[in-house]
Amino acid sequence: MRRKLVVGNWKMNGSLAQNKRLLDSLAQGLRDVSHVDIAVCVPYPYLFQAQAVLAGTSIAWGAQNVASHDNGAYTGEVSAAMLKEFGASYVIVGHSERHGAYGESAANIAEKFAIAKGYGLTPIFCVGETLQERESGVMEYAIANQLDPILSVSGGALLDQAVIAYEPVWAIGTNKTATPEQARAAHSFIRERIAALHPGAAESVRILYGGSVNSRNAAQLLSMSDIDGGLIGRGSLDADDFESICRAAC
Ligand code: PEP
Repeated sequence: MRRKLVVGNWKMNGSLAQNKRLLDSLAQGLRDVSHVDIAVCVPYPYLFQAQAVLAGTSIAWGAQNVASHDNGAYTGEVSAAMLKEFGASYVIVGHSERHGAYGESAANIAEKFAIAKGYGLTPIFCVGETLQERESGVMEYAIANQLDPILSVSGGALLDQAVIAYEPVWAIGTNKTATPEQARAAHSFIRERIAALHPGAAESVRILYGGSVNSRNAAQLLSMSDIDGGLIGRGSLDADDFESICRAAC
């Protein structure tokens, strides 16, 4: 039985003062929520603050990207070892906002996934089709193209306990949420694809849905079979909304 997981992706938002209010509210408001794993992925400079406020609570924290190298001459990059030093548990890899804007290749994302796992972080690997791919009937092909490099570089052990986020690109930041049935169908396609290569891992991998989840649509989406939780952008920036989404995951 997979435990549900709800992860907030703050993207490039926040300030010390705003974060303090948000994190304090979440720590307080989610004290009694034990049926679901909860995490927030914050901008790098705020990892120390997440660690200071959330240590000792049941809310984990993480980052939104990681370098594909251990250390060295990679100006501007942040390593998995550095994330671990700030107590991070999770790291998002391959978010569509990154590979669109920063040209991350599938091979590069697969390296990030492997290095995160190697340092004991849980990678949250994002896949999803564009509207054009969905409308032209190549959605499964597009998702498989993103998934397969990870499945081929990662043995079953690397995939074990990893997290995949199905995030249709057309649903991110748009208020156009996938219907529960569209999301469920994509999730079962992803799980079957993993099962074909790594049957053991397919059962333990948690597959999150991401794309305009809010406090009104969360319960329906997160109750679908094969949807093991959510990756939440805008809805994670407001304590009441994020708390409602976490409570809806059961
Ligand atoms: C995201 O950035 O991963 C995301 C799902 O954003 P939003 O919830 O705002 O659509």
